[in-house]
Amino acid sequence: MTFSDLGLRAELLRAVEAQGYTTPTPIQLKAIPAVLQGGDLLASAQTGTGKTAGFTLPMLQRLAGGPRPAKHQVRALVLTPTRELAAQVGESVADYGRHLTLKSHVIFGGVGQQPQVDAIRGGLDVLVATPGRLLDLHQQKHVDLSKVEILVLDEADRMLDMGFIHDIKKILRVLPEKRQNLLFSATFSNEIQALAGKLLDDPAMIEVARRNTTAELVDQAIYRVDREKKRELLAHLITQHDWQQVLVFTRTKHGANRLAEQLSKQDIPAMAIHGNKSQSARTKALAAFKTGDLQVLVATDIAARGLDIEELPHVVNFELPNVAEDYVHRIGRTGRAGSEGKAVSLVCVDEHGLLKGIERLIKRDLEKRIEPGFEPDPNAKPEPIENGRGKRSGGGGRNGGQGQRRQGQAAGQRRGGDEARAPRRRRGGGSGSRQA
Ligand code: AMP
Repeated sequence: MTFSDLGLRAELLRAVEAQGYTTPTPIQLKAIPAVLQGGDLLASAQTGTGKTAGFTLPMLQRLAGGPRPAKHQVRALVLTPTRELAAQVGESVADYGRHLTLKSHVIFGGVGQQPQVDAIRGGLDVLVATPGRLLDLHQQKHVDLSKVEILVLDEADRMLDMGFIHDIKKILRVLPEKRQNLLFSATFSNEIQALAGKLLDDPAMIEVARRNTTAELVDQAIYRVDREKKRELLAHLITQHDWQQVLVFTRTKHGANRLAEQLSKQDIPAMAIHGNKSQSARTKALAAFKTGDLQVLVATDIAARGLDIEELPHVVNFELPNVAEDYVHRIGRTGRAGSEGKAVSLVCVDEHGLLKGIERLIKRDLEKRIEPGFEPDPNAKPEPIENGRGKRSGGGGRNGGQGQRRQGQAAGQRRGGDEARAPRRRRGGGSGSRQA
């Protein structure tokens, strides 16, 4: 099956070819015909599956035939949880739409609003937005959503995790009743199901295997190590194996900063990316990392969400996440769209419970290694795990099962109040307008 078999128009096929894609991914095979038919869609798919092209290509095709938008009006609205994801989806829209004459724009908080206002004024075929900034501009009457033909909620589970449900409900109230709705989510919590029930009309349902739960393309390993030796071991592994592009996850923003500083001092170029950094600092770090100028990018879970770095060879969990599902999201950064990747986790005695929770979730035991010279102390006692806000939660080996899960959720909620809200606190303008 090829892209042309899916009924896409020549302009889109040329753009796809220019991206170097030869075969549609499973989600694209299912989503493209479903969206072209015009009905609603409920898709369970995470980043790395090719979902963006899965909704963008047929969306652009449906828009291509239609009338131009009137002033301030938007024909297709894509909502994303983070600025990074908005920027990436916006890039895909521009890339895939390069041979069409549709206008698209990306808006998010944290930058001045005037360029966004200017871009929307003439009307847009596609607007990619984070919910907070979109509502701001709508309240100021800079954008008219009453003629939206297609609504996409991308990574809907993350949007709800980040506390955007009220913003989403407000946005839904100003959309026209008749429209096509596409909902993408990696997980299906009760909240997502409730949202889907309200939003979608007899949707086509698509589920693609969460490839990283089996992670056939990702070589995963655990290094057992003492808490105090983690940084040294990380520097050792990076130098020893000559890893050139490494995404490292820490649990806290403070931890990310500290680790990036320490690695830099050891002549391993590293920068931290998280919600407290300015948009320009994040963009700069990400750009340097993508081009290979920056060897190590240290990120927290929220900041890394939606980062699309093609064929990322190495992901390191400097600390295991409090929420087992985040492990799956983290290692989803590597071995993407067919390329192989390595995911390494540095695990100390405090994290044995977290590790058990992850192994239970992915239904397999991960290979345990000990690096010579970094043998863990067999008598080390577990300590409670810092969660980044001065509080501590127990993460030791005692309650690996249900207790761990509850604890993870609590940590997730705290994190939601911390970094996840950042996009809403820092409201302000956007990025460049372009021909889609
Ligand atoms: P996504 O899940 O949309 O974030 O896409 C993940 C990655 O897969 C991106 O880097 C895309 O450029 C890439 N990709 C999307 N579709 C294909 C395809 N059909 N073949 C190869 N790579 C693809």
